[in-house]
Amino acid sequence: MIYLDNAATTKVSEEVFEAMKPYFCEQYANPSAIYSFAGRSMKAVDEARKNIADLIGARPEEIYFTAGGSESDNWALKAATEYCRTKGKHIITSTIEHHAVLHTCQYLEKQGYEVTYVNVDEYGVIKLDELEAAIRPDTILITVMAANNEIGTIQPIREIGEIAKKNGILFHTDAVQACGHIPLNVDELGVDMLSASGHKFHGPKGIGFLYIRKGVRIGSFMHGGAQERSRRAGTLNTPGIVGIGTAAKLAADGLLKRMAKETALRDFLIKRVLTEIPYSRLNGHEEDRLPNNANFCFRFIEGESLLILLDQQGICASSGSACTSGSLDPSHVLLAIGLPHEIAHGSLRLTLSEETTREDINFTVDAIAKIVERLRSMSPLYEDFIRQNQNKDL
Ligand SMILES: *Cc1c(COP(=O)(O)O)cnc(C)c1O
Repeated sequence: MIYLDNAATTKVSEEVFEAMKPYFCEQYANPSAIYSFAGRSMKAVDEARKNIADLIGARPEEIYFTAGGSESDNWALKAATEYCRTKGKHIITSTIEHHAVLHTCQYLEKQGYEVTYVNVDEYGVIKLDELEAAIRPDTILITVMAANNEIGTIQPIREIGEIAKKNGILFHTDAVQACGHIPLNVDELGVDMLSASGHKFHGPKGIGFLYIRKGVRIGSFMHGGAQERSRRAGTLNTPGIVGIGTAAKLAADGLLKRMAKETALRDFLIKRVLTEIPYSRLNGHEEDRLPNNANFCFRFIEGESLLILLDQQGICASSGSACTSGSLDPSHVLLAIGLPHEIAHGSLRLTLSEETTREDINFTVDAIAKIVERLRSMSPLYEDFIRQNQNKDL
């Protein structure tokens, strides 16, 4: 099997699994209890919190554990807007956010908030002039993702942070794809809140965190016990927290080296696809993209058929988003960068990990080339196109 769907989820690394193990059957105490057996669990939680804070340049007391990226996004958006309701009801986001943000925005619209969806350019980079023009006296929150989960484009978060600060507006970023994959520093970026999720950087599923800058006043999302400084109730998920903390430490340790390795392999993949497969295009920005992300469109091809045939070769890939698979709608991200419906349908996302090899990539590109040729040979659209363009210089 060749696993090229690391944007959907990653393998839990062996070190992470080993670190988690004692917290199931041995150190199982509720960390909030007062006996010393529980103290050992709390110590592990504190260490994890510190590892995460270090990864994003925050302070440990600014990290709040959640059940994952979706919860962090929901919390940031719903609680921040509720808190600022008296100031205004206007939110700014982008058209290419993850559904955890987009659907929360739609929910908030039903609650009487107004949302401006700022457009992106053909590479998926948010239009900063449009964003600035969208600001109103009643704007209370800007939420823009750090890097896109489908096409990998990295957003100008620092610039958005400056704009938000200048205008006294809270700024949240969904960094679920970026965290652990590229350097992030909350002070340099000027973000007030940041969401991340363990399973996107070799930690376990069902654990994430929300960074909330000290002094930012947002309400609690989960009501109940006094855990997480009364901001997120619920017995701490000790094994999960130890897991995400260990993953954060591993991610920070080898970050630049891993980025260089993944970027080189990614560019090798992109180059092979674009030069060897006719009528293919790269989606997203050529340079400002996640080191492990490649996203292509192949004209005259249904993405779904391509995925099924790749699966038959043992290759796990995706058409862009795990959330849209199974639905016939093309990706909202590909439409937002201006692709017509018929082209957006033929997309393929390949996301690498540190373990991906050159052999994996060669095998995959060979497979794609054969499958694309085969699917096109059965396509009346392709036949028409070739006939019509026979005499043209392509
Ligand atoms: C995966 C993902 C999420 C959701 O995270 P979960 O931990 O699966 O809830 C949110 N935003 C982005 C950009 C993602 O890639």
